[in-house]
Amino acid sequence: MRIVVLTGGIGGAKFLVGVRAYARRTGAEVTAVVNVGDDAVLHGLRVCPDLDSVMYTLGGGADAQRGWGRAGETWAVKEELTAYRAEPTWFGLGDRDIATHLVRTTMMNAGYPLSAVTDALCVRWNPGVRMIPATDDRLETHVVVSDPDPAPPAQRAIHFQEWWVRHRGALPTHRFVFVGAAQAEPAPGVLDALAAADVVLIAPSNPVVSVAPVLAVPGIREALVGGAAPVVGVSPIIGDAPVRGMADRCLAVLDVPCTAAAVAGLYGSRRSGGVLDGWLVDPVDAAAETDGVPVRAVPLWMTDETATAQMVAAAVELAGSVEPAGTRPRPDGVAR
Ligand code: GDP
Ligand code: CA
Repeated sequence: MRIVVLTGGIGGAKFLVGVRAYARRTGAEVTAVVNVGDDAVLHGLRVCPDLDSVMYTLGGGADAQRGWGRAGETWAVKEELTAYRAEPTWFGLGDRDIATHLVRTTMMNAGYPLSAVTDALCVRWNPGVRMIPATDDRLETHVVVSDPDPAPPAQRAIHFQEWWVRHRGALPTHRFVFVGAAQAEPAPGVLDALAAADVVLIAPSNPVVSVAPVLAVPGIREALVGGAAPVVGVSPIIGDAPVRGMADRCLAVLDVPCTAAAVAGLYGSRRSGGVLDGWLVDPVDAAAETDGVPVRAVPLWMTDETATAQMVAAAVELAGSVEPAGTRPRPDGVAR
């Protein structure tokens, strides 16, 4: 079986640990298509937070307590940069993490696309799933805010990292813009993986700033909408709250309630032009009304690998039980 997972960073990485465990048990092949909308150039270095969260977590190098970055991290470079007052002082890069960004930036300056660089970095981390950035092209999530400083307040767009890390998402916020998305192409391998997939899973990642930028790459959403494989999403919301992270804040910007049902509504049913054939929710949300998308309720707390692998098994089972809405014949010529 071939499983493709659309994913962001920390929540997606935890989910992928379970996907990998499920795949090891069943012999499935896993491809993760990872958001790049959070990527930024900081101090001259190309930083890819979601790719790195996935790579470090699956590679056993993530800091489990902090939830992001490298285990055993030190901060000497950050302290030196702060002493120089080198902006952005609000974004901390750890010393170990910087090595990753140095290798990546050097390779990219030499002309390698991000997907090839990711492959190269994964030789060290051996994540056990194939990791592909959604695109090799520039795609950055920016946030349109009313900036009170300098007065009078004016609307301007700031990078997602500045919005979240510097301002904690607290500025009056109007919308998210995926800069470059319209011109971006799926990275090599993304469309092939989707075309060959037996099931596509949408990780319980932030729907607004992790999954939406992936779907904004022309060709990717279309591959889901028209593809042969069933698409099952896993709710990042349990009991009207994001378990961890800022999905509530991002959903509020879109005027979407922070509920499992509302997130399913945001993705939409494949029968009406959306991407979902099935939606996995936690038992506390079992009554979620999803406009015709079949729902299954299982515990969605990703407390450990075993619990998460059980979620994945339920998602795959749900995928097998729904009639996928897509009409495109599978590569083997068999329409489903
Ligand atoms: P980021 O890119 O690092 O922000 O990470 P993601 O977008 O991949 O995932 C963040 C989301 O994961 C959060 O907004 C939460 O809603 C969700 N999340 C975190 N832990 C859990 C969990 O244990 N269960 C579920 N269902 N969702 C979770
Ligand atoms: Ca992210």
